[in-house]
Amino acid sequence: MTTSQGKGVKTTCPYCGVGCGIIAKREADGSVEISGDPDHPANYGRLCSKGSALGETVGLDGRLLFPEVDGKRTDWDTALDHVADVFAKTIKEHGPDSVAFYVSGQILTEDYYVANKLMKGFIGSANIDTNSRLCMASSVAGHRKAFGTDTVPGTYEDLELADLIVLVGSNLAWCHPVLYQRIEAAKQVRPEMKVVLVDPRRTMTANIADVHLAIKPDGDTALFNGLLVNLAENGKLNQDYIVRYTNGLDETLAAANSTTSELENLTGLSSVELQEFYSLFGNTEKVVTVYSQGVNQSVSGTDKVSAILNSHLATGRIGKPGMGPFSVTGQPNAMGGREVGGLANMLVCHMDLENPEHRDLVRGFWQSPHIPEKPGLKAVDMFKAVADGRIKAIWIMSTNPVDSLPEADSVAHALEECPFVVVSDILEETDTMRYAHVKLPAAAWGEKGGTVTNSERRISRQRRFMHLPGDVKPDWWQMVEVAKRMGFEEAFAFQTPAEIFDEYAKLSCLKNEGSRDFDIGGLSGISEAQYASLPPFQWPHKSDATSTETRFFADGNFYTPDRKAHFVPVKAKTNQIVDEEFPFVLNTGRIRDHWHTMTRTGMSQRLSSHLAEPFCEVHPGDANNLGIKSASLINMENQYGEITVRALVTDRVQKGSIFVPMHWTDQFASNGRVDKLVAAKLDPFSGQPASKNVAVKISQANSGAFAFLLTREKLDLDFSKASYWASARCPGGWRHELAFATRRDAMVFGDKLATETFGDEVLDYNDPVSNEHRLAIFKKGRLSAAFYMSPEPVLLAREWLIEQLQHDFETAEQRQKVLAGRADATKPDKGPIVCSCMAVGVNEIFTAIQAGNTTAQTVGEATTAGTNCGSCRAEINGMIDVYLRETKIAAE
Ligand code: SF4
Repeated sequence: MTTSQGKGVKTTCPYCGVGCGIIAKREADGSVEISGDPDHPANYGRLCSKGSALGETVGLDGRLLFPEVDGKRTDWDTALDHVADVFAKTIKEHGPDSVAFYVSGQILTEDYYVANKLMKGFIGSANIDTNSRLCMASSVAGHRKAFGTDTVPGTYEDLELADLIVLVGSNLAWCHPVLYQRIEAAKQVRPEMKVVLVDPRRTMTANIADVHLAIKPDGDTALFNGLLVNLAENGKLNQDYIVRYTNGLDETLAAANSTTSELENLTGLSSVELQEFYSLFGNTEKVVTVYSQGVNQSVSGTDKVSAILNSHLATGRIGKPGMGPFSVTGQPNAMGGREVGGLANMLVCHMDLENPEHRDLVRGFWQSPHIPEKPGLKAVDMFKAVADGRIKAIWIMSTNPVDSLPEADSVAHALEECPFVVVSDILEETDTMRYAHVKLPAAAWGEKGGTVTNSERRISRQRRFMHLPGDVKPDWWQMVEVAKRMGFEEAFAFQTPAEIFDEYAKLSCLKNEGSRDFDIGGLSGISEAQYASLPPFQWPHKSDATSTETRFFADGNFYTPDRKAHFVPVKAKTNQIVDEEFPFVLNTGRIRDHWHTMTRTGMSQRLSSHLAEPFCEVHPGDANNLGIKSASLINMENQYGEITVRALVTDRVQKGSIFVPMHWTDQFASNGRVDKLVAAKLDPFSGQPASKNVAVKISQANSGAFAFLLTREKLDLDFSKASYWASARCPGGWRHELAFATRRDAMVFGDKLATETFGDEVLDYNDPVSNEHRLAIFKKGRLSAAFYMSPEPVLLAREWLIEQLQHDFETAEQRQKVLAGRADATKPDKGPIVCSCMAVGVNEIFTAIQAGNTTAQTVGEATTAGTNCGSCRAEINGMIDVYLRETKIAAE
């Protein structure tokens, strides 16, 4: 393993839980070249669009570079003294449970370890929780119920070895693209491999599925309960495995029993669909069931996980090559956070907070005064406690709860009222930073080093390859310095991440002897040099390891008191939430090219080109009934708030269901924070909110005028006259979508733009018949700004216009073309971008398909689309399918 500068630095992608290896190379001009690490076992050189564009996100634009207290720049000593002082005084006056840390699956394991040690070991509260609570807490709860500990039994290789992959509530094509690519490649080699997608929505992942089961929201428990009963009735259970390694099957089968019509009603699937799926599962030995947020983010998330695990335990299909249940995590270090005890109800190294022996062991090892006996407040409850004053000081690290927690406006209000809010982040302005009394500048990806664990339990190094700018410091250092100032110098004498990792490895094997799954004792005593060159490895990594097998449970050995797995009886229920007032089921989730609240991906022009504004997918039938026109604006509301987003009419969603992405914040849109609408309804075991099943009503927003605005600079524009705005970076500048309550408001905005945008030539066009109004402002022969206003959603050759920001305009005729907003006949508009890496648009791809290129590969050869990271190939395949289907219908 080399980290030498000339060859680039081996590190890990900071986005999703696939945990791809990356080689980052600094160029002489300061830019960073990114490539996939061919040796990393998670991706073998592949990257998705987000990973490929990491080089665009390492600039200093918008960075917080110096500590601030009460809005004033200060030095670290002053800021840290203040944080330690307020935390200490609050604890003294109100007790340890009056303070809290809210951390993130974005921070590194070493950061997590220090935060957890400080809160649980030395402050003496378990009030530390993480945004991972929002993504996989139900999987943790399900694992612990069945296995006695939070173990993911399988490895990524199982996805390639399986004969059947069942994807449940998982849009792998967009959310874990490299895993999707690995399945796609395996299916090309073995076309007999089957993929079943279980999802209410026909996502891009459906393009690889042999069967799409468009299940009702939260119908998964019923589906897998029905599977268990069907397996039993058809003699497909593995009696040997059940007898030797499990208990509790009979009660579980009894709870799972239901009639066919109940099953149809709960799942929304026909008996034919159910029987086909059950028979495929029953008759295929090598089955992997992959599940993620569609399972976890539910009031019955833990039950769904239990139902999935029950089916795998009953067939003994677990921990063997090509077999097993597989929870894939959303975040790069959600798994590291779980291992280190970053959840309020867990202890470090997969030990249990409620277990007195574990508490004693950790307390003795840390030499800490106390370890709390009761769990702390989980994420949603933590912010309720901030709201009602039980928590008086909170430190938020690397996350944006004002956007991502349910009932997000209440979270904002709670922070506004909280006496002391510390926020560590990389950006000066986020929706959460707005409420910080103390702002601490955190090191960004590329500036910090440590480890992360991916979804297959593989621990990889993130390595630093850039200097720390300004006064920026890593998160672990910030916490260590506060801990020292609170009087815990000895326990927090860490000088480097390697020292923290060494202590963590030592604790993992302390009095373990196979009693706990998490054991990396083989790395105890790791030196700085060994840590620097540590290759990716899967745990367990024991000091006395004789086996290289890293799968769990093929031969039992669970971590329950009797070392047997527990079947968990679960009863399927309808989570019927809609009513006459709020008749639509809102499903929230991710899109392909953005990550969380866009603090990094929003910096990339490339990533912002795929989908440039918040949108709502709505079924054509619903749109028709409600008079919602495509590309108009939708108002969406319920008892918690309202948002305004663009209408995207599509049959990818079912009637009565809508989908809105979770990424947009007040930094990028006027009113697109969808988590405002998500009710704080929680799974009773995991505390995870139901972010995919929310009752809302929708209507078309009244807009007197729509507009598209291009600007070369990020102008300080006054959008107060606009009823809607959404801004995104684009090559050479910024693009903005706008709407106004009245035409007059739009005209006032345009006039102001013309007078305040310093240009030397303003072209103006007014059409009294169509009521369209256009402006193009040039400076020194280059386009500074262009504004297109229309009473209807603006139809323009947007991508062509964006390209004009790069050109010099020598003739009046060329400048007039910009005003017209129509592409040159010699260079047609490429259409909305599909391939963000190669900037290929939908029109170009469609032209290639019409010319006879009917595979993603030949489309790539014709257009370059999909030839870099391949994340867009699912969309290209979807376009080919539609074209072939429509051509066939036309021929008939
Ligand atoms: Fe990063 Fe994409 Fe790999 Fe996820 S799949 S780790 S986002 S490169």
